[in-house]
Amino acid sequence: MSDYISYMEEHGHEQLVVFGDAATGLRGAIAVHDTTLGPALGGLRIWPHGSERDGIMDVLRLSEAMTLKSAAAGLDLGGGKAIIMRNAGTDKTEALLRSYGTQVAALNGRYVTTEDVGTTMADMQWIRRETKHVVGLPLESGGSGDPSPMTSYGLYQGILATAQYRWNSDDLSGMRIVLQGLGKVGNYLLPYLKGEGAVIFGADIDDSRVERAQNQFGLVPLRPDEVFDQECDIFVPCALGGILNDETVPQMRAKAVCGGANNQLLEPRHADALAERDILYAPDYIVNAGGVINISYEIGRDYSAEEARRKTGQIYDTLTGVFTSARAEGISTDEAARRMAQSRVDAVRNIRRAR
Ligand code: NAD
Repeated sequence: MSDYISYMEEHGHEQLVVFGDAATGLRGAIAVHDTTLGPALGGLRIWPHGSERDGIMDVLRLSEAMTLKSAAAGLDLGGGKAIIMRNAGTDKTEALLRSYGTQVAALNGRYVTTEDVGTTMADMQWIRRETKHVVGLPLESGGSGDPSPMTSYGLYQGILATAQYRWNSDDLSGMRIVLQGLGKVGNYLLPYLKGEGAVIFGADIDDSRVERAQNQFGLVPLRPDEVFDQECDIFVPCALGGILNDETVPQMRAKAVCGGANNQLLEPRHADALAERDILYAPDYIVNAGGVINISYEIGRDYSAEEARRKTGQIYDTLTGVFTSARAEGISTDEAARRMAQSRVDAVRNIRRAR
């Protein structure tokens, strides 16, 4: 029925663990993509996928993206991801989360779990009862807390680097910036943009979030369907994935895209479509690595926000390196980012270890 194993061979996955536990309602999977650089870190997504196949393909793709994200950020972490195919609003129980925790424990540290869509820090506390391989715990429990402020700080650095590369200046004053999504990442970004004197436009499907941004940061509100054809300098997607596609790219009137959302390109070819329209694309996993960088400072050491912020600041240089090599090699920025990340994994894999 499925071709998961062939997909894993093609994409270099190491392991896929699937589980179904009727007693607790647990049904899902953990994908370990690559542990060359370190344990496979990635969040647990609780989402009612339409089919088992959708869920498994989702976890396989997301785990590979985590390998690239951590490799490009210079972390000693591999890529992994987990899913529970349930409704986070109605199906989450202590038993479900602890049953999942036993699956993480069985991997003996090859996979380290954390939050993602549908999971919270409080959920991590339940999982922690069954395994020590969990991060993203609250600050008061010795964890690194909510990763979103660091993600937004990294995104801010990415926007500065994008402006510098596109316009030879990272002065954002008067620059027209369009935000899609005013949730955690979008909201923590607003003070940086206001501080720079940017002209901020934005949309969210939740009106209360738009209103708050209007009142606190002078945001100019847009309807959700207006974000793509709004004339602007930088489009900043901070909502869902797949939003750069055949329908939206031709409409776009931005000169650059640099946002925090995961998996913005529906397919890699949409990076070429952006380049053809002279829209500079900042690869999402380079730009939004602040969250995983923050969490990495919780693993095996006492969390230091200062150190995590210093490392997150390097996103500016990493992104500049991606832009530069894309131009030098005549490839899309997405392909340049992938090559850069993959070359680090390959180099470390080839080390002859003296043991
Ligand atoms: P969030 O749920 O807090 O915010 C998302 C916001 O997008 C919500 O306010 C939602 O109403 C809005 N939204 C949904 N569909 C929309 C649409 N069509 N138009 C406009 N707004 C819409 O999530 P978040 O934590 O801010 O994450 C945002 C994105 O960044 C996600 O893709 C996430 O995977 C990615 N990301 C987040 C982090 C992090 O640290 N939080 C780290 C890396 C990547």
